Amino acid sequence: MIMKGKKGIILGIANKKSIAYGIAKACKEQGAEVAITFLNERFEKKLAPIAEELECGVSFYPCDVSKPEEIKALKSSIENDMGQIDFIVHSIAFAPKEGLSGRFYDISKEAFDIAMDISVYSLIEIVRELKPVLSNRASVLTLSYYGGVKYIPNYNLMGVAKAALEMTTKYLAEDLGRDGIRVNAISAGPIKTLAAAGIGEFGFMLKWNAAHAPLKKNVSINDVGNSGMYLLSDLSGGVTGEVHYVDGGFNIMGMPAVDFNEDGKQVIAWNGEAK
Ligand code: NAP
Repeated sequence: MIMKGKKGIILGIANKKSIAYGIAKACKEQGAEVAITFLNERFEKKLAPIAEELECGVSFYPCDVSKPEEIKALKSSIENDMGQIDFIVHSIAFAPKEGLSGRFYDISKEAFDIAMDISVYSLIEIVRELKPVLSNRASVLTLSYYGGVKYIPNYNLMGVAKAALEMTTKYLAEDLGRDGIRVNAISAGPIKTLAAAGIGEFGFMLKWNAAHAPLKKNVSINDVGNSGMYLLSDLSGGVTGEVHYVDGGFNIMGMPAVDFNEDGKQVIAWNGEAK
């Protein structure tokens, strides 16, 4: 039981398809005690069965990260109900729809500010507010995507937010290292979730990734969950400030791979065309 004796809070479960749910399950299976949050009353009802399944008990809290008072209240609830915690999972992102398709240069300042606030600044604010209840070997994990490093069609505004999130991870890691707190990110391959549904032509991203990744498949929330659990556990005690790819290896590819057909001729792996 890798996580036995560890307690943590997981933000960003919308349903059983959420990456955060995969991480929560992996932590729970390895003996952790987990608390989860919900956005508003509507989601409280939807998430109640998941909170029950994860045996959260009273540790099932409201938290809309755009409301600083809810983050402050979260700290008080954790302090009352759980005492100190050992990990935080920040699996939250949002961009107005206009930022996830169309011409990049059309993005409004309002959409930009919202995306940066919810998808990036919230990590800093959560860590700062919850720091008093973090143990001195705590681990913080956030979720990124390759579109923060390279151009991905339609990822547009979220690409800029993920670039900022990855650097935020590194600056936080340095700052909190002196307190024994580690901060890492997982850059996950595309997974069909509620948030992903908002990205233009997401189905094509899934096909492209599976066709070009060395492992020739897309990753699941269980894959990300297990890697996330490792980064939250003492097994990764020497790791901080990292962006760890869980994407079937997609990020290492510089060009589509070549394969060999029955005649021994080289073909481009993804469409079978002769070279
Ligand atoms: P998801 O299930 O839709 O989770 C996104 C979560 O963000 C939801 O729980 C959503 O809450 C929450 N959220 C949005 N605005 C919020 C706010 N103001 N306050 C609190 N919570 C808020 O989608 P997901 O794919 O698992 O996304 C989780 C993370 O993984 C995101 O950072 C995403 O960018 C990242 N990621 C996803 C993929 C992918 O392909 N799916 C790949 C790489 C990285 P509500 O649903 O209740 O609004």
